[in-house]
Amino acid sequence: MSCPRLLACVLGALFLCSCAPQANVPQVDTASADAEAKYQQTLVLRDSVEKLDRLNRVAWNIRARNAELCGDVVTRGTGLTLLELDDYAKEKRDLAREVLGLTTPPTVFQAPPGSPAEQAGLKRGDIVRLVGGVKPENKKQARELIAAAVKKGEDVPIEVERAGEHLALVIKPVSLCDYPIVLDQSEVVNAYADGSKIIVNRGMLKFVQSDDELAGILGHEMAHNTRKHIRDMQVNSTLGRLLIDLPVTVFTGVNPNLGWQLGRAMYSQEYEFEADYVGLYYTARAGYDTRCVPEIWRRMALDNPKGITMGSTHPSTSKRYVALDAGVAEINAKRAAGQPLRPEIKGETQPAAPQQAEVQTPQTQPKAEPQAPQVISIPEAIPQ
Ligand SMILES: [Zn+2]
Repeated sequence: MSCPRLLACVLGALFLCSCAPQANVPQVDTASADAEAKYQQTLVLRDSVEKLDRLNRVAWNIRARNAELCGDVVTRGTGLTLLELDDYAKEKRDLAREVLGLTTPPTVFQAPPGSPAEQAGLKRGDIVRLVGGVKPENKKQARELIAAAVKKGEDVPIEVERAGEHLALVIKPVSLCDYPIVLDQSEVVNAYADGSKIIVNRGMLKFVQSDDELAGILGHEMAHNTRKHIRDMQVNSTLGRLLIDLPVTVFTGVNPNLGWQLGRAMYSQEYEFEADYVGLYYTARAGYDTRCVPEIWRRMALDNPKGITMGSTHPSTSKRYVALDAGVAEINAKRAAGQPLRPEIKGETQPAAPQQAEVQTPQTQPKAEPQAPQVISIPEAIPQ
């Protein structure tokens, strides 16, 4: 018997002998299932937009309202995010057009509250017709035109179409910390800093329950960058390699990698405590309620009860809660006394400026860098 015939016989026998359910379930008609599939994809896309909106508006506030504390790592930005139909695969374009109002020309996706884009009057769904008097061919060119004006320190004249009407608007860029926020599609509940960026997983966006909680997470990660923790950890691990691994390798011929690991772990808990403390100030200065930040660690403890008392490279959740709670009390006391909201750092003096000045648009002179996108992602109807 040939192979295809044998396979057909086996499948036939399997079909005849296997156990089928006996309940008289309703039949699923294809049209209804297709309509429901479209509805569910719409729900997913709307949920994705909601989460990206939260990430973008909180990221804007954390970066712009702390520019004064980011030293020379500042840039200028508008807060504007554009999308175009080509961002989506062909089969998803109808949905993107319907839910996001996307068109072939670049379209405004996000103009976070308080950002120059929002203050200029831009709204989601505005079709970008001209940037600085030039008609952009696509989103890439529109972004390049905006970035070029921002780099020169100029305002950005922009003409958009809204409901058939043409509007001439002007975006006035402001300073913000030059630590772009990048979305990672991982479902793991995590966010991290790499020294120059902040990476937030999708899983973290699902975990946080409010803008305040997300601000607490972003503040912590930005503090890792501003306090140069990643650089310091690299220095420590290199020292461990030179002082331990290299001599052992010379004598035994085997690299134990122990020095690198020891160096990497040195002060790791202290870095976390410092990022928690400094990050609380960033959160408060960005206008968020810091009282929910310690609570994040109680919820984290529910996810990982072992972490309540056991620390490793990170402190235990109980110690973090207590330290953060003390930080919140310190910030509240400064607020009550009308003092500036700045973290207490050895060797740094506290300015006598009134607290109100701390939350105004920062006046730090930026270096002339092109505008970095706030969040590098597009909302997806179907998670990848
Ligand atoms: Zn951390």
